[in-house]
Amino acid sequence: MFGELTRAADRPALRFNDAELTYRQLAGAAGAVAAQIQGKSRVAVWATPTIQTAVAVVGALVAGIPVVPINPKIGSRELEHILTDSKPDLNLGEEDIDITASAPLPELDIADAQPAFIVYTSGTTGPPKGVVLPRRAIVSNLDALATAWQWTSDDVLVHGLPLFHVHGLILGIVGPLRRGGSVRHIGKFSSEAVARELAGDATMMFGVPTMYHRLAADAEADPALAKAVGQARLLVSGSAALPASDHERIFKATGQRIVERYGMSETLMNCSVRADGERRPGTVGPPVDGVDLRIVDEQGNQLPDGEIGEIEVRGPNLFLEYLNRPDATAEAFRDGWFRTGDVATVDPDGYVRIVGRRATDLIKSGGYKIGAGEIENVLLEHPGVAEVAVTGEPDDDLGERIVAWIVPAGERPNEQELIDHVAKLLTPHKRPRVVRFLDALPRNDMGKVTKRALGQ
Ligand code: ATP
Ligand code: MG
Repeated sequence: MFGELTRAADRPALRFNDAELTYRQLAGAAGAVAAQIQGKSRVAVWATPTIQTAVAVVGALVAGIPVVPINPKIGSRELEHILTDSKPDLNLGEEDIDITASAPLPELDIADAQPAFIVYTSGTTGPPKGVVLPRRAIVSNLDALATAWQWTSDDVLVHGLPLFHVHGLILGIVGPLRRGGSVRHIGKFSSEAVARELAGDATMMFGVPTMYHRLAADAEADPALAKAVGQARLLVSGSAALPASDHERIFKATGQRIVERYGMSETLMNCSVRADGERRPGTVGPPVDGVDLRIVDEQGNQLPDGEIGEIEVRGPNLFLEYLNRPDATAEAFRDGWFRTGDVATVDPDGYVRIVGRRATDLIKSGGYKIGAGEIENVLLEHPGVAEVAVTGEPDDDLGERIVAWIVPAGERPNEQELIDHVAKLLTPHKRPRVVRFLDALPRNDMGKVTKRALGQ
């Protein structure tokens, strides 16, 4: 999985604040962890955003022992659910890892189908499920992303994400180490820290849309910060939809067009705009190498380009199963295709446009199928709107009526004006029937809006 580790090069591998390791040092520390956990069948890692967490994970990967990353801020009920579900026979925390230790890397022949991680989903739509990810999914997907992003050993990644989901851990730590590049973890995200690294030798950044929203505002206010961000080779956004308005604001302020990708715990990355491809706002690009993608109706019939339906995927990127949930696993597959639960349309040239989730974002109103994402993007263009979530709620007449939950930017905008704004820019049947104002949208630790908390 990590060629550069076995070559034990004296190149920088990881830096978290003041703690740094070269590949040679990382190989030694990971070898020590591998020796420490030898014979275990599953290891839980208390995934604080520290270099120790990265070392623990690399050690387990070279030892071929599956890792269960745990959100260090997890509540007691959720922790109990994860530990009784995954039954690790060892828990590793920051204090258990000595990054100065050194032992040889184990020489093992580990099968492709061997689980590497059990990652719990974000719990956006229900209780988190344990996704069992085989090594082949990680290796094949990281290599497909390397092609799409022209990702090499020269890349230095700015990282400000948590380490217990696919995005921060597999893309953000395992990814650069597989390429032989390096990682700069900035701790808690701030635009200043990102700009400082990008003004130095960092080349790329992975972030979630809430980070880019802040970066847009800070770049507009500070030309030096905008200039630093403009020097990046690649800014990548994922985990949730990047509003087209933030894509354009970053472009205007910095000259950078963000590359958006679409993935999930169960599939790793399905789609991405390529580094040399057109960066079209509101799209996540074509499927990455090795991933087959199709759009289907409720019965599983494939739909022509341009029509709204559910995304199904298959390929070497897929998970093995939901841990202890044969029911959920069986339900998630149809004829060998994984049903993502996300709805989208495809542009004529194969670029995918995510509309949202089947359960909460596909609104059936007045005989039309309407995607929440399109309405959200248009409402964000209104100067009175800071944040928005669009949902459907039961309606005797329409089946469902469109509800817009608005966080105002300053003074409350007029409700009718917002409704007319959507009717004018989209079509009248896409206009919200109800507008509700909030101080903030409910979000989880990845910055994703939890529509369940809005009564969905
Ligand atoms: P749960 O499955 O527990 O409800 P979750 O689906 O949020 O939580 P993850 O696997 O972390 O858990 O997130 C995957 C989901 O994130 C995708 O199914 C999709 O809805 C959303 N997503 C990821 N990237 C994008 C993107 N670029 N645009 C829109 N949505 C995205
Ligand atoms: Mg999900």
